[in-house]
Amino acid sequence: MIHELIEFAHGRGMALSLIETMPLGQTGCDRTEQFLGLDALRREISRRWTLSDLTDRSGGPARYARVEQTGGLIGFITPLTAHFCGDCNRVRVTADGTLYTCLGHENGIDLRKLLRSSMSEAHVHEAIGHAVEQKPKGHEFSLQGRVLPVKLVRHMSATGG
Ligand code: SF4
Repeated sequence: MIHELIEFAHGRGMALSLIETMPLGQTGCDRTEQFLGLDALRREISRRWTLSDLTDRSGGPARYARVEQTGGLIGFITPLTAHFCGDCNRVRVTADGTLYTCLGHENGIDLRKLLRSSMSEAHVHEAIGHAVEQKPKGHEFSLQGRVLPVKLVRHMSATGG
């Protein structure tokens, strides 16, 4: 299947990005059954395709490799097997106006409430700055053994990418 996906994407001039599942939100499923480390998938890809690692970045967390036979790119996003939290400068604002400073933590500030209050713009900036200063060093998801416990109630779709 992965080989067909590469042919499909690269045959249409598209890059293909792959991401390891993260245990966000209760789904009623055993997350370990959904998890596939991209190191294993990369080995499978390399059985058929020649991959050349690139240093190019898109501003996101993907690490890219070029498939020599197609000229197309594959992005590998590895939050579990090789997390990149140390380089992360991201914060996210959800559709309901909550500012989250990390995908892997529940703490956020109610930006909508602040903006709708009589608080001055300077104080709103200060509150955002304080939230960013408190940004966690990273997620606490763990792959110990075959345990991939769900740490967050919030689903990925509630936050956005
Ligand atoms: S888990 Fe948090 S710190 Fe790590 S990359 Fe995602 S948002 Fe950034």
